[in-house]
Amino acid sequence: MSILGQEGRTFRQKAVERVIQARFVLGAAAFITALVLSTQATWWLSFAVLMLVLLAVVALSATLPRSDAPAESPASDPAIFRLSGQQLAAQLPDPLIIFDHGGTILYVNPVANGAFGPLARGGALLLHFRAPELQALVQSVMADGVARSVDFAERVPVERWYRATVLLLDRAGGKDRQYLLSFRDQTEAHRLERMRSDFIANASHELRTPLASLTGFIETLRGPARRDEAARDNFLEIMQKQAERMARLIDDLLSLSRIEMKAHIAVKDQVDLTTLINHVVDSLRPLADDLGVEIERKIDPDPVIVLGDRDELTQVFQNLVENALKYGQSGKRIIVELKRGDDGIKAMVQDFGPGIPEEHIPRLTERFYRVNLETSRAQKGTGLGLAIVKHILTRHRARLVVRSRVGEGSTFTVVFGPQKA
Ligand code: ADP
Repeated sequence: MSILGQEGRTFRQKAVERVIQARFVLGAAAFITALVLSTQATWWLSFAVLMLVLLAVVALSATLPRSDAPAESPASDPAIFRLSGQQLAAQLPDPLIIFDHGGTILYVNPVANGAFGPLARGGALLLHFRAPELQALVQSVMADGVARSVDFAERVPVERWYRATVLLLDRAGGKDRQYLLSFRDQTEAHRLERMRSDFIANASHELRTPLASLTGFIETLRGPARRDEAARDNFLEIMQKQAERMARLIDDLLSLSRIEMKAHIAVKDQVDLTTLINHVVDSLRPLADDLGVEIERKIDPDPVIVLGDRDELTQVFQNLVENALKYGQSGKRIIVELKRGDDGIKAMVQDFGPGIPEEHIPRLTERFYRVNLETSRAQKGTGLGLAIVKHILTRHRARLVVRSRVGEGSTFTVVFGPQKA
């Protein structure tokens, strides 16, 4: 709409308003006109003119807005103006408590009752919240009225981290002052932060061990073993193994970070699991021969198509088959099976080795988690293989199911969800 258009409309509206405001004067003028006419014209002509003017005045009065009506009707108000403070507080997703200058609880919203409850109105706030950080926070805001926040943990029944904020609601009121205590749940952010720092500490530790060994051997070779031919060959061989271990670790770390970066990108290639798993088994045959393990395949020749990333899925089955060969070596054989059932596509790798004690199973996909550190190191493990598997499967909307019995062996099953046609 043009500005001119708006101005034109405003001018017309103003003219109408002026006529409406002058309606009584207009009425009086019409009456006098009628009187004058009645002296000179016939009575019915005077009467008709009078009625016409009166009708016009009545019509104009009907269109006049009532001065006591609000500018907008309540129905068009945003909902927030129709809600009371209590209704608003009850809708908020964060715990919220209002208390007075004596520390008495005046109001608790339902989320606060769920998180810390039961919290009775009239109860003492600081008897309920014992964390020293929170007590200090409440007391300092009561002392100077300046809003502050603090992080604290509730340990019972499970550990939860919160950022608590206290602010003065209304400066007036002296002893009747009221304060708002609100909480923001930080548990997830805290957990992620802890995982990140644990991961850095673990990765550094894993790299530091072979590095320390390398440095030690270099010093020995430059010092006491300088002229010892036999020791030099032996040390160089160990050094090479340590360097290879560091390289494996760095490769796995890079792999993990690449997969994490792609986690939100949907997989869209059609991958034939029959061909892929057969390739993986073929490529690991030399390792199986070295370890004296036989690989039995239960894979039909028909293609089994899933949406996926070929390289990533190859990495999944390489890790699983390699683990079965290395850790299940004592069982002498492994079975690799692919089947399509009503409940989805399943790819299984079964070994008949020592098995995994039950308490370790939920933690197998954690980074750097090993059931037995020495066995893993001896098998050139980095402790990252199953973490990589889990990340890849999450991107593929697939699951890893681990079943194991000590003394009987383990089965690692990859379950793919329903595939789009
Ligand atoms: P690693 O690099 O140490 O092999 P993984 O993440 O692949 O790391 O595996 C984690 C741990 O799980 C291994 O160190 C091993 O203790 C255990 N594990 C994995 N697969 C098997 C298996 N088939 N049988 C017994 N233990 C296994």
